[in-house]
Amino acid sequence: MTIFEKVLEIYQEYYICLHCLGRMFSLLGTDTTNYDRGKSLLLAMTMENHRSYLSRHENHEGAIANLKILAENARFNPAQSVLGREGIECNSIISSEKCHLCKDIFSNIPEYAKIAIQSLHNLEFKNFLVGTTLESQIVNRGDNFKAQFNLLNSESIKNHFNREVGKELSNILQKPSEFTIPDITVIYTLGFASSEVNLLIRSIFIKGRYNKYIRGIPQTHWDCRACRGKGCESCDFSGKQYKTSVEKKISPEFVKEAKAESSKFHGAGREDIDVKMLGKGRPFVLEIIHPEIRNLNLEKIQKKVNKRNKKKVQITNLVYSSKEQVKNLKFNAENTKKVYRALTSSFESITKEKFYSILNKLKDTFENQKVQQRTPNRVSHRRADKIREKKIYQIEGKFVKPKVFEFVVEAQGGTYIKEIIHGDNGRTTPSFTEIFGFPIECKQLDVLKIY
Ligand SMILES: [Zn+2]
Ligand SMILES: [Zn+2]
Repeated sequence: MTIFEKVLEIYQEYYICLHCLGRMFSLLGTDTTNYDRGKSLLLAMTMENHRSYLSRHENHEGAIANLKILAENARFNPAQSVLGREGIECNSIISSEKCHLCKDIFSNIPEYAKIAIQSLHNLEFKNFLVGTTLESQIVNRGDNFKAQFNLLNSESIKNHFNREVGKELSNILQKPSEFTIPDITVIYTLGFASSEVNLLIRSIFIKGRYNKYIRGIPQTHWDCRACRGKGCESCDFSGKQYKTSVEKKISPEFVKEAKAESSKFHGAGREDIDVKMLGKGRPFVLEIIHPEIRNLNLEKIQKKVNKRNKKKVQITNLVYSSKEQVKNLKFNAENTKKVYRALTSSFESITKEKFYSILNKLKDTFENQKVQQRTPNRVSHRRADKIREKKIYQIEGKFVKPKVFEFVVEAQGGTYIKEIIHGDNGRTTPSFTEIFGFPIECKQLDVLKIY
């Protein structure tokens, strides 16, 4: 069966618009739109039947019947004109029934674009993508139609709609479509009765480093242990275990500047609440969720954050980042070397000489060796109980007082430093306590460097 015959068969049963007609043969003939494809088809058919009608030798009646299908059923203007010119009567009352396949969605593309434009108002973005979910009624109707007429070269209505609205939006907005990582995805939910538009706004990611110059605040917000964040007497109905956090000191300024909904803080590992983060700081990525503004003045934000949190928390090296870097950040945290300074107190008084001779033993035991650490009791409520092997690279020590020593330890990321020192009742081995032969406690810990 030729395409022409198939088209006549279709219009004998249904009215479909030129967009939908073209879509049914979308894989045939490239570099054109479905609308032009549909229109060209009907025009070529009108011409062929006109020629046949004018020819003396051919089937006039057949040509007239076909032209009538094109003029009446397909509502094709050129076919109507041909019949008019040849003085052939055709049914002047043409139905206003909508396209069987799209209910005239494709004739109203500018309207659909307009709804999106309204919801994109106030948003800053470089590019976008259109996505569509279809009500099952539209999908089923299209599938049945293709099956009935054995149409094997068609395109999905979804692709067709996305492309047409995408072109329209691109023209109005003067911004390109972006298929891999669009700033905004405009999602249409299309139905015969009603449709709606929703926006998916991609998060922005800002990478930087932070320093924590005070003890007693966690890196990120912790829900109150007693009420799990609901708010209770013990947390003063704040739902928080700690009043503030590094995250809370940093992120609000970004959220405000980006006119965002919220944010999420991703640190390259974390120090304990009572541990300072010194040196060049710890890498972090701040994910800013649902931002209206994407081009931020990072320098200005950094200044504001640092001014507000003077001598407490500071940020540096801000640059734009990506979702992938969040994954790298988490992965690398376990594999990067870190340098810690620990101020310790000893159970027994020892002389300077004794200290330095034990320090040599510590170096022999730990340097470039692995330690076994069973999950410490203090974190067992949030980490699985297992034994981790961590490498210690270097240990330096300084005698401060007979019962006070300072150590600088270079270790693999994720090492529990306090446990290396006190031994955690044998859960970490070897430990300083083990080598000294009496308990050594970690009084203060600072992170000096993260490679
Ligand atoms: Zn249609
Ligand atoms: Zn509470």
